[in-house]
Amino acid sequence: MADTTVLDRGEARPTLPLVDPFARAITYLRVSVTDRCDLRCVYCMAEDMHFLPKRDLLTLEELDRLCSVFIRRGVRKLRITGGEPLVRRDIMRLFGSLSRHLDSGALEELTLTTNGTQLARHARDLAACGIRRINVSLDTLSPATFRTLTRWGDLDKVLAGIDAAQEAGLAVKINAVALKGVNENEIPALMEWAHGRGMDLTLIEVMPLGEIEPARVDQFLPLSLVKARLTERYTLDELDYRTGGPARYVRVRETGGRLGFITPMTHNFCESCNRVRLTCTGTLYMCLGQEDAADLRAPLRASMSDGPVEEAIERAIARKPRGHDFVIDRRRRQPAVGRHMSVTGG
Ligand code: SAM
Repeated sequence: MADTTVLDRGEARPTLPLVDPFARAITYLRVSVTDRCDLRCVYCMAEDMHFLPKRDLLTLEELDRLCSVFIRRGVRKLRITGGEPLVRRDIMRLFGSLSRHLDSGALEELTLTTNGTQLARHARDLAACGIRRINVSLDTLSPATFRTLTRWGDLDKVLAGIDAAQEAGLAVKINAVALKGVNENEIPALMEWAHGRGMDLTLIEVMPLGEIEPARVDQFLPLSLVKARLTERYTLDELDYRTGGPARYVRVRETGGRLGFITPMTHNFCESCNRVRLTCTGTLYMCLGQEDAADLRAPLRASMSDGPVEEAIERAIARKPRGHDFVIDRRRRQPAVGRHMSVTGG
Protein backbone atom coordinates (compact mmCIF):
# COMPACT_ATOMS: atom_id res chain seq x y z
CA MET A 1 0.00 0.00 0.00
CA ALA A 2 0.99 3.61 0.25
CA ASP A 3 4.15 5.16 1.54
CA THR A 4 3.00 6.95 4.67
CA THR A 5 6.28 8.66 5.48
CA VAL A 6 5.40 12.34 5.65
CA LEU A 7 7.50 15.08 7.10
CA ASP A 8 5.61 16.75 9.95
CA ARG A 9 6.47 20.37 10.03
CA GLY A 10 4.15 21.94 12.55
CA GLU A 11 3.84 19.69 15.60
CA ALA A 12 5.43 22.32 17.83
CA ARG A 13 2.94 25.06 16.96
CA PRO A 14 -0.18 25.68 19.05
CA THR A 15 -3.25 24.01 17.56
CA LEU A 16 -6.01 26.55 17.93
CA PRO A 17 -9.21 25.55 16.14
CA LEU A 18 -10.28 27.57 13.12
CA VAL A 19 -13.33 29.70 13.90
CA ASP A 20 -14.86 32.15 11.45
CA PRO A 21 -16.29 35.63 12.19
CA PHE A 22 -19.76 34.14 12.75
CA ALA A 23 -18.43 31.79 15.47
CA ARG A 24 -18.69 28.74 13.21
CA ALA A 25 -15.90 26.21 13.82
CA ILE A 26 -14.35 24.88 10.62
CA THR A 27 -14.28 21.12 11.11
CA TYR A 28 -14.98 19.86 7.60
CA LEU A 29 -12.65 20.14 4.61
CA ARG A 30 -13.57 19.07 1.09
CA VAL A 31 -10.65 18.58 -1.22
CA SER A 32 -10.95 18.43 -4.98
CA VAL A 33 -7.95 16.40 -6.14
CA THR A 34 -8.52 16.92 -9.88
CA ASP A 35 -10.74 19.05 -12.09
CA ARG A 36 -10.96 16.20 -14.61
CA CYS A 37 -13.85 13.78 -14.88
CA ASP A 38 -14.68 10.82 -17.07
CA LEU A 39 -18.29 12.03 -17.37
CA ARG A 40 -19.73 15.37 -18.55
CA CYS A 41 -23.00 15.72 -16.63
CA VAL A 42 -24.99 18.39 -18.43
CA TYR A 43 -25.78 20.38 -15.27
CA CYS A 44 -22.17 20.25 -14.05
CA MET A 45 -19.84 20.80 -16.99
CA ALA A 46 -19.85 22.30 -20.45
CA GLU A 47 -19.18 19.78 -23.24
CA ASP A 48 -15.87 21.38 -24.25
CA MET A 49 -14.27 21.82 -20.85
CA HIS A 50 -10.68 23.05 -20.68
CA PHE A 51 -8.81 21.27 -17.96
CA LEU A 52 -5.84 22.49 -15.98
CA PRO A 53 -2.35 21.57 -17.14
CA LYS A 54 -0.88 18.92 -14.83
CA ARG A 55 1.92 21.27 -13.72
CA ASP A 56 -0.64 23.52 -11.98
CA LEU A 57 -1.85 20.72 -9.73
CA LEU A 58 -0.65 20.17 -6.21
CA THR A 59 1.26 16.92 -5.91
CA LEU A 60 -0.23 14.18 -3.74
CA GLU A 61 2.43 14.98 -1.13
CA GLU A 62 1.41 18.65 -1.14
CA LEU A 63 -2.26 17.70 -0.83
CA ASP A 64 -1.40 15.48 2.11
CA ARG A 65 0.60 18.27 3.71
CA LEU A 66 -2.23 20.79 3.36
CA CYS A 67 -4.86 18.34 4.64
CA SER A 68 -2.61 17.57 7.61
CA VAL A 69 -2.33 21.26 8.47
CA PHE A 70 -6.13 21.55 8.45
CA ILE A 71 -6.45 18.43 10.60
CA ARG A 72 -3.99 19.83 13.11
CA ARG A 73 -6.17 22.95 13.21
CA GLY A 74 -9.33 21.05 14.05
CA VAL A 75 -10.72 19.56 10.86
CA ARG A 76 -12.39 16.26 11.84
CA LYS A 77 -13.98 15.27 8.56
CA LEU A 78 -12.22 15.15 5.22
CA ARG A 79 -14.01 14.49 1.94
CA ILE A 80 -12.01 13.80 -1.21
CA THR A 81 -13.83 14.91 -4.34
CA GLY A 82 -13.27 16.34 -7.81
CA GLY A 83 -13.77 16.36 -10.83
CA GLU A 84 -13.77 12.63 -10.37
CA PRO A 85 -11.31 11.80 -7.59
CA LEU A 86 -10.76 8.21 -8.72
CA VAL A 87 -9.42 9.32 -12.12
CA ARG A 88 -6.44 11.06 -10.50
CA ARG A 89 -3.38 8.90 -11.01
CA ASP A 90 -2.13 7.12 -7.85
CA ILE A 91 -4.96 8.62 -5.80
CA MET A 92 -4.93 5.59 -3.51
CA ARG A 93 -1.54 6.77 -2.25
CA LEU A 94 -3.24 9.87 -0.86
CA PHE A 95 -5.98 7.84 0.85
CA GLY A 96 -3.28 5.53 2.22
CA SER A 97 -1.21 8.34 3.69
CA LEU A 98 -4.19 10.28 5.07
CA SER A 99 -5.46 7.18 6.85
CA ARG A 100 -2.76 7.73 9.51
CA HIS A 101 -4.95 10.55 10.85
CA LEU A 102 -7.79 8.07 11.33
CA ASP A 103 -5.42 5.72 13.14
CA SER A 104 -4.25 8.52 15.43
CA GLY A 105 -7.84 9.61 16.14
CA ALA A 106 -7.16 13.15 14.87
CA LEU A 107 -9.64 12.59 12.05
CA GLU A 108 -13.13 11.21 12.65
CA GLU A 109 -13.95 10.50 9.04
CA LEU A 110 -12.16 10.19 5.72
CA THR A 111 -14.57 9.82 2.84
CA LEU A 112 -15.12 10.54 -0.83
CA THR A 113 -17.71 11.59 -3.36
CA THR A 114 -17.48 9.68 -6.61
CA ASN A 115 -19.45 9.05 -9.77
CA GLY A 116 -18.78 5.34 -9.23
CA THR A 117 -17.32 4.53 -12.64
CA GLN A 118 -13.97 3.44 -11.17
CA LEU A 119 -15.27 2.09 -7.89
CA ALA A 120 -15.16 -1.57 -8.83
CA ARG A 121 -11.35 -1.29 -9.06
CA HIS A 122 -10.84 0.70 -5.88
CA ALA A 123 -13.54 -0.31 -3.38
CA ARG A 124 -11.47 -2.84 -1.43
CA ASP A 125 -8.45 -0.54 -1.19
CA LEU A 126 -10.66 2.31 -0.01
CA ALA A 127 -12.06 0.10 2.75
CA ALA A 128 -8.50 -0.94 3.65
CA CYS A 129 -7.63 2.76 4.09
CA GLY A 130 -10.26 3.13 6.80
CA ILE A 131 -13.01 4.59 4.65
CA ARG A 132 -16.39 3.51 5.99
CA ARG A 133 -18.95 5.54 4.04
CA ILE A 134 -18.92 6.94 0.54
CA ASN A 135 -21.24 9.07 -1.57
CA VAL A 136 -22.00 7.89 -5.07
CA SER A 137 -23.62 10.41 -7.41
CA LEU A 138 -26.33 8.78 -9.48
CA ASP A 139 -29.31 10.66 -10.86
CA THR A 140 -31.15 7.93 -12.76
CA LEU A 141 -31.50 4.17 -13.14
CA SER A 142 -32.37 4.43 -16.82
CA PRO A 143 -29.36 3.55 -19.03
CA ALA A 144 -30.63 5.91 -21.75
CA THR A 145 -31.24 8.86 -19.41
CA PHE A 146 -27.87 8.21 -17.77
CA ARG A 147 -26.13 8.33 -21.13
CA THR A 148 -27.86 11.58 -22.09
CA LEU A 149 -27.29 13.21 -18.73
CA THR A 150 -23.60 12.30 -18.52
CA ARG A 151 -23.11 12.80 -22.29
CA TRP A 152 -21.51 9.33 -22.65
CA GLY A 153 -21.61 7.39 -19.39
CA ASP A 154 -22.31 3.68 -18.97
CA LEU A 155 -24.74 3.03 -16.12
CA ASP A 156 -23.62 -0.60 -15.74
CA LYS A 157 -20.15 0.50 -14.65
CA VAL A 158 -21.61 2.61 -11.87
CA LEU A 159 -23.90 -0.20 -10.73
CA ALA A 160 -20.93 -2.59 -10.70
CA GLY A 161 -19.02 -0.02 -8.64
CA ILE A 162 -21.84 0.20 -6.11
CA ASP A 163 -21.96 -3.61 -5.87
CA ALA A 164 -18.20 -3.72 -5.25
CA ALA A 165 -18.41 -0.98 -2.62
CA GLN A 166 -21.13 -2.79 -0.70
CA GLU A 167 -19.25 -6.09 -0.97
CA ALA A 168 -16.19 -4.34 0.46
CA GLY A 169 -18.30 -3.29 3.45
CA LEU A 170 -18.58 0.39 2.55
CA ALA A 171 -21.83 2.16 3.44
CA VAL A 172 -23.04 3.84 0.27
CA LYS A 173 -25.18 6.95 0.11
CA ILE A 174 -26.64 7.85 -3.25
CA ASN A 175 -26.70 11.54 -4.17
CA ALA A 176 -29.07 12.55 -6.92
CA VAL A 177 -29.55 16.02 -8.37
CA ALA A 178 -33.29 16.60 -8.90
CA LEU A 179 -33.77 17.79 -12.47
CA LYS A 180 -36.98 19.12 -13.95
CA GLY A 181 -38.30 16.90 -16.72
CA VAL A 182 -35.30 14.54 -16.49
CA ASN A 183 -35.54 12.41 -13.36
CA GLU A 184 -38.43 14.04 -11.51
CA ASN A 185 -40.82 11.18 -12.22
CA GLU A 186 -38.16 8.63 -11.33
CA ILE A 187 -37.45 9.84 -7.81
CA PRO A 188 -39.77 7.34 -6.05
CA ALA A 189 -38.21 4.45 -8.01
CA LEU A 190 -34.68 5.66 -7.27
CA MET A 191 -35.58 5.93 -3.60
CA GLU A 192 -37.14 2.46 -3.43
CA TRP A 193 -34.12 0.98 -5.20
CA ALA A 194 -31.64 2.70 -2.84
CA HIS A 195 -33.58 1.84 0.30
CA GLY A 196 -34.07 -1.72 -0.92
CA ARG A 197 -30.27 -2.06 -0.99
CA GLY A 198 -29.78 -0.48 2.43
CA MET A 199 -28.53 2.83 1.01
CA ASP A 200 -29.61 6.34 2.00
CA LEU A 201 -30.67 8.62 -0.84
CA THR A 202 -30.03 12.35 -0.76
CA LEU A 203 -31.66 14.69 -3.24
CA ILE A 204 -29.90 17.91 -4.24
CA GLU A 205 -31.22 21.08 -5.82
CA VAL A 206 -29.29 22.16 -8.89
CA MET A 207 -27.16 25.25 -8.23
CA PRO A 208 -26.22 28.03 -10.67
CA LEU A 209 -22.47 27.28 -10.85
CA GLY A 210 -20.55 27.73 -14.10
CA GLU A 211 -21.67 28.45 -17.65
CA ILE A 212 -23.50 25.50 -19.23
CA GLU A 213 -25.60 25.30 -22.36
CA PRO A 214 -29.03 24.44 -20.93
CA ALA A 215 -30.72 27.26 -19.02
CA ARG A 216 -30.62 26.57 -15.28
CA VAL A 217 -34.23 27.60 -14.99
CA ASP A 218 -35.15 24.68 -17.24
CA GLN A 219 -33.26 22.25 -14.96
CA PHE A 220 -34.29 23.58 -11.57
CA LEU A 221 -36.73 21.47 -9.58
CA PRO A 222 -37.45 22.77 -6.06
CA LEU A 223 -37.20 20.02 -3.48
CA SER A 224 -40.15 21.55 -1.63
CA LEU A 225 -42.22 20.36 -4.60
CA VAL A 226 -40.55 16.93 -4.69
CA LYS A 227 -41.19 16.49 -0.98
CA ALA A 228 -44.83 17.53 -1.33
CA ARG A 229 -45.32 14.98 -4.10
CA LEU A 230 -43.60 12.24 -2.09
CA THR A 231 -45.88 12.87 0.88
CA GLU A 232 -48.85 11.95 -1.32
CA ARG A 233 -47.44 8.39 -1.51
CA TYR A 234 -45.19 7.99 1.51
CA THR A 235 -45.06 8.91 5.18
CA LEU A 236 -41.98 11.03 5.87
CA ASP A 237 -40.93 11.25 9.53
CA GLU A 238 -38.52 14.11 10.27
CA LEU A 239 -35.20 12.96 11.78
CA ASP A 240 -32.52 14.72 13.84
CA TYR A 241 -29.88 12.61 12.08
CA ARG A 242 -26.99 14.68 10.62
CA THR A 243 -23.82 13.57 8.85
CA GLY A 244 -21.87 16.80 9.28
CA GLY A 245 -23.07 18.06 5.91
CA PRO A 246 -26.02 20.24 4.90
CA ALA A 247 -28.63 17.49 4.32
CA ARG A 248 -31.83 17.31 6.39
CA TYR A 249 -33.20 13.77 6.69
CA VAL A 250 -36.52 12.05 6.95
CA ARG A 251 -37.30 8.38 7.51
CA VAL A 252 -39.63 6.95 4.90
CA ARG A 253 -41.99 4.74 6.85
CA GLU A 254 -42.95 2.51 3.91
CA THR A 255 -39.34 1.67 2.92
CA GLY A 256 -37.66 2.07 6.31
CA GLY A 257 -34.87 4.03 4.58
CA ARG A 258 -33.47 7.52 5.06
CA LEU A 259 -34.06 10.29 2.57
CA GLY A 260 -32.01 13.49 2.64
CA PHE A 261 -32.71 16.91 1.15
CA ILE A 262 -29.99 19.41 0.26
CA THR A 263 -31.74 22.66 -0.51
CA PRO A 264 -29.27 25.43 -1.31
CA MET A 265 -31.94 27.22 -3.34
CA THR A 266 -35.19 26.91 -1.39
CA HIS A 267 -33.83 26.70 2.14
CA ASN A 268 -30.48 28.23 2.85
CA PHE A 269 -28.48 26.29 5.47
CA CYS A 270 -25.47 28.59 5.79
CA GLU A 271 -25.98 29.37 9.47
CA SER A 272 -24.51 25.98 10.37
CA CYS A 273 -21.78 25.92 7.71
CA ASN A 274 -18.66 24.19 9.04
CA ARG A 275 -17.01 23.68 5.65
CA VAL A 276 -14.30 25.06 3.41
CA ARG A 277 -13.18 23.72 0.03
CA LEU A 278 -9.72 23.26 -1.39
CA THR A 279 -9.13 22.87 -5.12
CA CYS A 280 -6.45 20.75 -6.77
CA THR A 281 -4.36 23.89 -7.35
CA GLY A 282 -4.39 24.81 -3.66
CA THR A 283 -7.06 27.50 -3.85
CA LEU A 284 -9.24 27.67 -0.77
CA TYR A 285 -12.89 28.65 -1.24
CA MET A 286 -14.55 29.69 1.97
CA CYS A 287 -18.04 29.41 0.40
CA LEU A 288 -19.23 27.29 -2.54
CA GLY A 289 -21.46 30.14 -3.72
CA GLN A 290 -18.98 33.05 -3.58
CA GLU A 291 -15.95 33.99 -5.68
CA ASP A 292 -13.62 35.00 -2.85
CA ALA A 293 -10.72 32.56 -2.45
CA ALA A 294 -7.24 32.30 -0.96
CA ASP A 295 -4.15 30.89 -2.62
CA LEU A 296 -2.50 28.33 -0.36
CA ARG A 297 -0.12 26.94 -2.99
CA ALA A 298 2.30 29.86 -2.91
CA PRO A 299 2.77 29.91 0.88
CA LEU A 300 2.91 26.10 0.89
CA ARG A 301 5.70 26.06 -1.66
CA ALA A 302 7.50 29.09 -0.24
CA SER A 303 8.56 27.37 2.95
CA MET A 304 9.37 23.95 4.35
CA SER A 305 7.70 25.16 7.53
CA ASP A 306 3.89 25.16 7.73
CA GLY A 307 3.88 28.59 9.39
CA PRO A 308 3.17 30.68 6.25
CA VAL A 309 0.40 28.39 5.00
CA GLU A 310 -1.25 28.29 8.44
CA GLU A 311 -1.23 32.07 8.51
CA ALA A 312 -2.79 32.16 5.04
CA ILE A 313 -5.50 29.74 6.22
CA GLU A 314 -6.23 31.88 9.28
CA ARG A 315 -6.52 35.02 7.13
CA ALA A 316 -8.89 33.18 4.77
CA ILE A 317 -11.15 31.83 7.53
CA ALA A 318 -11.33 35.35 8.99
CA ARG A 319 -13.19 36.42 5.85
CA LYS A 320 -15.50 33.43 5.41
CA PRO A 321 -18.79 35.01 4.34
CA ARG A 322 -22.06 34.52 6.14
CA GLY A 323 -23.47 32.54 3.22
CA HIS A 324 -24.34 32.19 -0.43
CA ASP A 325 -27.01 33.96 -2.38
CA PHE A 326 -28.16 31.77 -5.24
CA VAL A 327 -30.95 32.83 -7.57
CA ILE A 328 -32.30 30.93 -10.56
CA ASP A 329 -34.87 32.77 -12.62
CA ARG A 330 -35.59 33.73 -16.21
CA ARG A 331 -34.10 37.23 -15.82
CA ARG A 332 -30.79 36.05 -14.36
CA ARG A 333 -28.80 34.41 -17.17
CA GLN A 334 -25.40 34.63 -15.47
CA PRO A 335 -24.36 31.88 -13.04
CA ALA A 336 -23.92 32.89 -9.38
CA VAL A 337 -20.24 32.05 -9.70
CA GLY A 338 -18.27 31.42 -12.88
CA ARG A 339 -16.55 28.20 -11.86
CA HIS A 340 -18.16 24.85 -12.50
CA MET A 341 -19.02 22.45 -9.69
CA SER A 342 -16.20 20.22 -10.98
CA VAL A 343 -13.64 22.78 -9.75
CA THR A 344 -14.66 22.68 -6.10
CA GLY A 345 -16.49 19.35 -6.01
CA GLY A 346 -19.54 18.30 -4.00
N1 SAM B 1 -17.24 13.18 -9.68
C1 SAM B 1 -17.72 13.10 -8.34
C2 SAM B 1 -19.19 12.79 -8.33
O1 SAM B 1 -19.77 12.60 -9.39
O2 SAM B 1 -19.75 12.70 -7.25
C3 SAM B 1 -17.42 14.29 -7.45
C4 SAM B 1 -17.60 15.66 -8.02
S1 SAM B 1 -19.24 16.10 -8.51
C5 SAM B 1 -19.00 17.75 -9.03
C6 SAM B 1 -20.04 16.24 -6.96
C7 SAM B 1 -21.53 16.35 -6.94
O3 SAM B 1 -21.91 17.62 -7.40
C8 SAM B 1 -22.27 15.35 -7.77
O4 SAM B 1 -23.24 14.74 -6.96
C9 SAM B 1 -22.93 16.18 -8.84
O5 SAM B 1 -24.14 15.62 -9.23
C10 SAM B 1 -23.12 17.48 -8.11
N2 SAM B 1 -23.28 18.65 -8.96
C11 SAM B 1 -22.57 19.00 -10.04
N3 SAM B 1 -22.98 20.19 -10.55
C12 SAM B 1 -24.00 20.60 -9.75
C13 SAM B 1 -24.85 21.75 -9.74
N4 SAM B 1 -24.74 22.71 -10.65
N5 SAM B 1 -25.78 21.83 -8.77
C14 SAM B 1 -25.91 20.86 -7.83
N6 SAM B 1 -25.13 19.76 -7.78
C15 SAM B 1 -24.18 19.62 -8.73
